[in-house]
Parts: sequence; C-alpha cells; structure tokens
Amino acid sequence: MEDILIIGGGPAGASAALTARNRGRRVTVVSGLLEDIPLWKAAEVSNYPGLPKSSGREILECFHRQCLDAGAGWVTGRATSAYAAGESFGVAVGSDFYESRALILAVGMSQGKLYPGEAELLGRGVSYCATCDGMLYRDKDVAVIGLCKAAEEEAEFLRSIGCRVQYFDKRRPYRIEGGDKVDALAVDGARYAVDGVFIFRSAVSAANLLPDLALDGEGHMVTERQTMAASVAGVWACGDCTGKPYQIGKAVGEGNVAALSACEALDRRDKEKAAL
Ligand SMILES: Cc1cc2nc3c(=O)[nH]c(=O)nc-3n(C[C@H](O)[C@H](O)[C@H](O)COP(=O)(O)OP(=O)(O)OC[C@H]3O[C@@H](n4cnc5c(N)ncnc54)[C@H](O)[C@@H]3O)c2cc1C
Repeated sequence: MEDILIIGGGPAGASAALTARNRGRRVTVVSGLLEDIPLWKAAEVSNYPGLPKSSGREILECFHRQCLDAGAGWVTGRATSAYAAGESFGVAVGSDFYESRALILAVGMSQGKLYPGEAELLGRGVSYCATCDGMLYRDKDVAVIGLCKAAEEEAEFLRSIGCRVQYFDKRRPYRIEGGDKVDALAVDGARYAVDGVFIFRSAVSAANLLPDLALDGEGHMVTERQTMAASVAGVWACGDCTGKPYQIGKAVGEGNVAALSACEALDRRDKEKAAL
C-alpha cells in the first residue's frame, strides 16, 4: 500500500509528489498521457519562474522527469473510481487497483459538461473504461466518444475483443438515450442504435471519481484553504480542480500545501499507532 496516491500528473500533482517524497513518503502518481494535459498545447509559458521560454510540453516533461528522479511511482492511465475504506483508499485504474493511506486529487478541470443522459445511464451502458467493461459488449454495437488522444487506443482495444465500434471524435452535441439501459446515441439529428457508449476524456470529473466530495457551484472541489483538505477525511485537493485562477503557480503552491498536510496527517496517525 502506498502512503499517498496522487491522481493527476500536471503541475499540482507533480508538486505534491515532490514534496511528499521530500518528506520520505511512498508516493504514486496516476495520470493520463502527458500529451493529453491541456498545458501541453501552450507554445510558451512566460509567467512561471525558473523555466523561461519553455513550452507547456517542456514544463510537463521536466516535472515528470523530476518526479521519477525523486522516486515517485508513475502510472499512466485513467482513474475511473475511488472510494474510502476505513483509513485507506482504493482507486481503480482500468483493471488495476491501487491502495493508499491518503489521497490527493490534482485532476485539473474536467473539460466540458456531462452529455445529456450520461449521468443517468452511467453503469447501465455508459462507461469510462474499456478494460473494465469492454467484454460486456463483445459482438455488440458501441459508440466511442473520443475526446483525448488515448481514446483511439481504447477504441482499438474494444475492436480487438469483438465490439462493433462507431467512433466519434469531434466535440458535438451528443445525447445518450435509453431507459433501463443505453439504446442509442443521438448526434446532430442522427440516431445511432448502440448497446453501450464509451466516453474517453483526458479527465474524469472529481464528482464522478469520488461521489461524496463537496463541490461549489462551478464544479470545483471545496477545500479548506490553510491545508487544502477536501470534504472527505483523508483527501486533499490542489490545482485547477479547486478553483480559479487557473495558473501553474497556484497549482504548484497548492500541491505543496496539500502534500505537507497529507504528510502531517500520516505522521500523526503513525505516532498515535506507535503510542498504543
Ligand atoms: C493552452 C494553455 C496555455 C496555458 N498557459 C499558461 C501560462 O502561460 N501560465 C500559467 O500559469 N498557466 C497557463 N495555463 C493554465 C495551466 O495549464 C493550468 O492552470 C495548470 O496546468 C493546472 O495544473 P493542474 O495540475 O491543476 O491540472 P492539469 O495541468 O490540468 O493536470 C491534470 C492532471 O490530472 C490528470 N487526470 C485528470 N483526471 C484523471 C483521472 N481520472 N485519472 C488519471 N489522471 C487524471 C490529467 O491526466 C493530468 O495529469 C495554460 C493552459 C492552457 C490550456
């Protein structure tokens, strides 16, 4: 079991990982592909100190390398769910499962709103995970809504196990239809009869990841500003997912605070156990 799992390998997650490693904690970062992180597209970042004239890509690659050099574990994949179990947490990443004593959410801002029908039919035909649910749709028709680079590989995997895949790769006004289960995907007036709809975004919204989290009216995680503690005990949050300004400097600062708070909480728990 890890001391701390960090979901998100952008500036906030990388900063949290480095600080937690400095405190001697076992840390693993779970992140989508670096090239799917929005900052990757920035041609030049001019207001982050220490890395002048760097592109977003260069900054992300530099943070990633630094985390690996510091001894943090790094899992490339999408966390699809997380849950609290007593004093620990479980996080599903595809068909793999990770456990930790503390959880830091650095998931950025999920891009776009949920599609009509998505929340209602989640788990009843709507899925975010080809590895977990693909076999349920063998020899069946599925739609893949691919909103990140990794989606093409997921669609290919679904094809390889015998799903009949229709791929939709542009952001369009999709609507998912069904009653007890998914019946169809409606796109621009056309209706595609499908048994399942797989949606691949680079980020899964925090609310979908860990259902009991309190969010503000704009979908940001509510945090205690001094510690970056989220509304669920043992969970801290940092970066764009906690609110504006959406800036690297803020994300890195909050990642540092979240990691220090998580490490202090673990230190307290360790001392209490040792005193028993
Ligand atoms: C084009 C562009 C230019 C920008 N220019 C600047 C600039 O010049 N200066 C500046 O300060 N800011 C700039 N920004 C803003 C800056 O990129 C963000 O504020 C910053 O990246 C936020 O960091 P973060 O770690 O909170 O989130 P992100 O960088 O969005 O990282 C989120 C991480 O969470 C991961 N993730 C999310 N959900 C999951 C999941 N379910 N499972 C696994 N991993 C998950 C993602 O893969 C990613 O690793 C720019 C943004 C863009 C898009």
